[in-house]
Amino acid sequence: MRPSRETVKDLLAMPLPPHETRHLFITGGVVSSLGKGITSASIALLLKQRRYRVRIQKLDPYLNVDPGTMSPYQHGEVYVTEDGAETDLDLGHYERFTGIDCSQESNYTTGRIYSSVIARERRGDYLGKTVQVIPHITDEIKAAIRSMDSDDVDIVITEIGGTVGDIESLPFLEAIRQFRHEVGPQRALFIHLTLVPFIRAAGELKTKPSQQSVAVLREIGIIPDILICRSENPLADEHRDKLALFCNVERHLVFEELDVAHTIYEVPLELARQDVDKYIIELLGLHVNDIDLEAWCDFVNRLIEGGDREVEIAVVGKYIKLRDAYKSIYEALTHAAVANNVTLKVRSVEAQDVEDRSAEALLAGVDGILVPGGFGYRGIEGKIAAVRYARENGIPFLGICLGMQCAVIDFARNVCGLRNANSAEFDEKTPEPVIHLMEAQKRILNMGGTMRLGNWTCRIRPGSRAAAAYGLDETHERHRHRYEFNNKYRDAFAANGMHATGLSPDGHLVEIVEIDGPAWFVACQFHPEFKSRPLAAHPLFRDFVAASAERPPGRPVSNAEQALEQPKNVSV
Ligand code: GLN
Repeated sequence: MRPSRETVKDLLAMPLPPHETRHLFITGGVVSSLGKGITSASIALLLKQRRYRVRIQKLDPYLNVDPGTMSPYQHGEVYVTEDGAETDLDLGHYERFTGIDCSQESNYTTGRIYSSVIARERRGDYLGKTVQVIPHITDEIKAAIRSMDSDDVDIVITEIGGTVGDIESLPFLEAIRQFRHEVGPQRALFIHLTLVPFIRAAGELKTKPSQQSVAVLREIGIIPDILICRSENPLADEHRDKLALFCNVERHLVFEELDVAHTIYEVPLELARQDVDKYIIELLGLHVNDIDLEAWCDFVNRLIEGGDREVEIAVVGKYIKLRDAYKSIYEALTHAAVANNVTLKVRSVEAQDVEDRSAEALLAGVDGILVPGGFGYRGIEGKIAAVRYARENGIPFLGICLGMQCAVIDFARNVCGLRNANSAEFDEKTPEPVIHLMEAQKRILNMGGTMRLGNWTCRIRPGSRAAAAYGLDETHERHRHRYEFNNKYRDAFAANGMHATGLSPDGHLVEIVEIDGPAWFVACQFHPEFKSRPLAAHPLFRDFVAASAERPPGRPVSNAEQALEQPKNVSV
């Protein structure tokens, strides 16, 4: 974690920027999983499309310093920013919807806030005072919010994780209450996202849970300016009247956010339909510029209408049951499908099932195979079998991070004849460690925030598939790993047809590998999925889906003919 540049006191004492950055605070009530992240991202998109300079941030009330050490089952995907922060997956929505890069400042947890306060206390910065939740923790939270202010930002959106009423979110709510008190109502707005459930037995929408959630907020001293109601059914006049009266919100500021029919990318349009963004801008005392949603609408329409043909991609992973674990992967595939004018069908395959049954049983008939990133041994042999199936059957393949490492292990074992090849992550004593721990990782003991993280430059070999995809000889991609391709094997692999086509600028780290042959087979050590955007599909995903769409029916062209030849130069 990067130490903050200014002390809390400095930040709080800083004069407000002359152009006056405005703040929107988004809280959630009644239940979790209401889609606060998507709502925040949607509002950000709408404000941006009205030519305001927006930044978004999420404050998470849990005690982990960041989600980097949490299991995907607990937390879903860990999203990585350009500057190497391991963050909540909502930041992925923020970046995908707005195209604006997040940073270390975009995600603070209770753990991170407390760590800085405790570090300051140990340094003696509090000069003998008793260190308390109020004011020290709340000051630190306000400083985290204020760290987003800058001359080139008009509106900062801060999403408060968790649900109103949780004990652990209290300091955050108190901090935003104070923040608004200090900057005034035109500089800070409260938006409360709530649920208006439809009770089937009564055949009615019920507003009471929302009233109660707002009552809890009021106890803390927060009265929402805007209510956004998630609902299966449209709100009738009577519901709006009740919500306005009992939640103390102006009637025209009660909005509905109905379940969208097809895709999360419709949510901004659902909010724009009701001019939510226009009212926000007016409340903030800003000028309501025209909105440009043409390109976004075009993307949504193309996604809903579908393409010329269906392309089925298998994603073979370890946490397949939880869709959130591979969120950015699925989104990047969706962007690539729209870019290629095809309809995406995802076949989610549990890697362990491939071990228990067979690759053929689970993967037959797919047009492309993707093995995403991951950690730990469970499911590894299934992933390796999936790579082998792709390679031997000429099925386009994209491997990402651990997916690349599995491709390397498969190639070592089944093409180069190194039968016992493995990654040192799974077998420390393997005689053929084709994937091994990076030098810089060997002395690291702490697990949190210590991987090779964030953006690193990659030089691409001209003439490679990667070069064709990027149209460039250099790129910058986001990473999150400890292990790497073992350079000792580079020549032996190349002699057998697997080439390192992407390297770090010093040539030491293998960033991309490709296999010669007619089938598209590219695997990368970085995570391209974090950089894919609806209107700018990532080049590797785009070309992977294009290759999958081109796969001729019938017996596919295979790379395996080469693979079946005698291995060359395998001694290293
Ligand atoms: N576990 C592997 C490593 O640490 C791959 C990591 C990943 O897929 N993100 O290198």
